[in-house]
Amino acid sequence: MSNSIDEILKQPKLSKQDLINLLQTDKIDRNKIFTHAAKIKADYVGKKVYYRGLIEMSNICSKNCYYCGIRIDNKNTERYDISDSDILDAVKFAHENKYASVVLQAGEISSPKFTKRVSNLLKEIKGISNNELGITISLGEQPDEVYQEWFDSGAHRYLLRIESSNPDLYYKIHPKNEKHDFETRLDCLRSLQKTGYQTGTGVMIGLPFQTYDDLASDLIFMKDFDIDMCGMGPYLKHIDTPLYEHKDLLMPIDDRFTLTLKMIALLRIIMKDINIAAATALQAIDPIGREKAIKVGANIIMPNVTPGMYRDSYKLYENKPCTDEEATDCTNCMEMRIGITGDDIGYGEWGDSKHFAKRTSQS
Ligand code: SAM
Ligand code: SF4
Repeated sequence: MSNSIDEILKQPKLSKQDLINLLQTDKIDRNKIFTHAAKIKADYVGKKVYYRGLIEMSNICSKNCYYCGIRIDNKNTERYDISDSDILDAVKFAHENKYASVVLQAGEISSPKFTKRVSNLLKEIKGISNNELGITISLGEQPDEVYQEWFDSGAHRYLLRIESSNPDLYYKIHPKNEKHDFETRLDCLRSLQKTGYQTGTGVMIGLPFQTYDDLASDLIFMKDFDIDMCGMGPYLKHIDTPLYEHKDLLMPIDDRFTLTLKMIALLRIIMKDINIAAATALQAIDPIGREKAIKVGANIIMPNVTPGMYRDSYKLYENKPCTDEEATDCTNCMEMRIGITGDDIGYGEWGDSKHFAKRTSQS
């Protein structure tokens, strides 16, 4: 790099070329990026981590994303759909343990019956928690009216990853058909923002065919889209998926891990006040992977509160962590590990996106 890393990081705006260069830094320069991002995090969102209890309510999915272990064509997965009462038990667990928010995530299902079911669940969650629990949902692409109905029923944050902001790469990791349309994905993100959700997106990092240019563009996409939250993590292979065929193109797993930390740190630098999740996939590579992400800019963690018996079937990728544990085991070990990062846990606090508050107060 012609300019020193310190000079580049001091600039008010990083260009695409800066981002490409920063993504390729070696260990010494990389640590400078991490230190800078940690300082920005402390200054803008504080040294605090907020919990979102994750409930993987069903692994039934109508889509066929090439990377995902629960895609419809994977016949080697046992499908489940957790009963409403079991979901509400998981919600109660999160509430009693002062998690303050839950995330409902599932494969993508679009039907009037499913819409109604989720609306009822959202109202129940609000009811049983006295409106104390914040709710994030991650239920894929849906019509505008459905996003609106779920918002009116109590959800106020939505996560829908763009997966890759480069349409060419998007179609290398998804079938090219109406059900997996890049423009529809973008329309959905716009619709979420318009409905009034705190809108989150993200990408997978270290995908076959992905370049540093793609990743820099992803960062710029998130900035230009003015997202409020981000959940991004390393791509991890799964033997029962078409993308597995290209496993020889993957960079070594440790490099994918480090690259993810760099993406998190750079996003924190360019979008100072958003919420950034430490993805579970990081923990599949390194037992303290999420805690490492917290040290370089992430401020959200999603402890899994899905009943243990279902976890093994929500296998998006290989080596998914904690599939043999119950929610109580997770709570204990997480508190200890977050302690190592030096951050506090925002028990009982929603920890909403400061960026969203600012964005909406200005409009
Ligand atoms: N079906 C919804 C959707 O696609 O938005 C929500 C559930 S989906 C399983 C959540 C995320 O899992 C996706 O956005 C994708 O990025 C991630 N994912 C799926 N397969 C993965 C893999 N092999 N490695 C890493 N992340 C993966
Ligand atoms: Fe279904 Fe989501 Fe997996 Fe795609 S990423 S196959 S939509 S669960």
